Amino acid sequence: MNAYFLPRDRVDELVGRLLRAAEVIAPKRVETGDVFYSPVSSPGEVAWDYKTAVEPLKRFLLPQQETVLRFSTGEKLRVEPVLEEKDRIFLAVRNCDVTGVNVLDAMFGGEIEDPYYMARRRRATFISLACLEADEQCFCVCGDAGPFLKNGYDQQWTPLAEGMLIEVGSDKGQALADAHQDLLSPAEPDQVAEKLQLAKRAEETFGEFRSYIAAAMRRLTLAETPDEVWERLADHCVECGGCTFLCPTCSCFTVTDRLEGDGGVRERHWDACLYNCYAREASGHNPRAEHSQRLRARFFHKLSHQWAQRNGRHACVGCGRCVVGCQAWAHMSAATEAIRRG
Ligand code: SF4
Ligand code: SF4
Repeated sequence: MNAYFLPRDRVDELVGRLLRAAEVIAPKRVETGDVFYSPVSSPGEVAWDYKTAVEPLKRFLLPQQETVLRFSTGEKLRVEPVLEEKDRIFLAVRNCDVTGVNVLDAMFGGEIEDPYYMARRRRATFISLACLEADEQCFCVCGDAGPFLKNGYDQQWTPLAEGMLIEVGSDKGQALADAHQDLLSPAEPDQVAEKLQLAKRAEETFGEFRSYIAAAMRRLTLAETPDEVWERLADHCVECGGCTFLCPTCSCFTVTDRLEGDGGVRERHWDACLYNCYAREASGHNPRAEHSQRLRARFFHKLSHQWAQRNGRHACVGCGRCVVGCQAWAHMSAATEAIRRG
């Protein structure tokens, strides 16, 4: 795939053009200093110097709550799907989060497509900003999701001393580069070498923090983890669901119908497999009534080889959000360590 160079003094011009072409979602700093992926309306709002965003990109493709259809129950039942159709460019988003979207694609864009997710996904373009320095909770290097990627993005931007190196990773990314060729020049070998140097240095900034993903994958796949490990983790976990809601790859949802006048709406909401009622059946039978069973199911879906084989990769991208969000020492890093020690 092609690589281009965008001089520093032309970055705002290109961002301005993107803003005129589509809704642009980019890292934006709020009063507290935290960064959230949010719609931006001018190039100056983009927080290029951030490390990680508080929330992943999931809510833009799979909103926390959405109306998926409206129905009327008059003489004849009428059902009308509600699809969100809008061009969106996700600019300067982190590679772990782009990889998270690729995991959601396997879930919602497989053999049986989810039309609501895919309506948004087809019109989304992902421009990632490679990380030059890891945040303290990051372990994307263990999750095979960064800090630099070889593929999986539409474009990957790397901030060099004099401007941006833009690597193209898809036809969508190439079309975007073609549309703005007047601002770009083909990347020179020394610019590609500068990026490789930055990538090497970025990997050296990962601290002591780690996650034993390979060990956990093997043991989960072979069902080698004793029940006591799950019981111990269940003693810690308070079932708040925070880890699942913050996770870029968790995709559990539930559906409710709400009556309104002569009809109503069907809504979908995020759910969490750790909740007691998540798998409870209409009869009242609950196949995962024990908390430890629910934890085992969650980590099996994140890390087992069976899941990875079906979906192309395991489902932890090492963003570290569950580590920050879990107050109970039952997050991904703690769990993989517990599984490894058995
Ligand atoms: S693992 Fe932590 S964040 Fe997740 S539900 Fe349990 S207590 Fe909450
Ligand atoms: S399990 Fe935790 S570290 Fe892994 S992708 Fe989800 S939130 Fe990020």
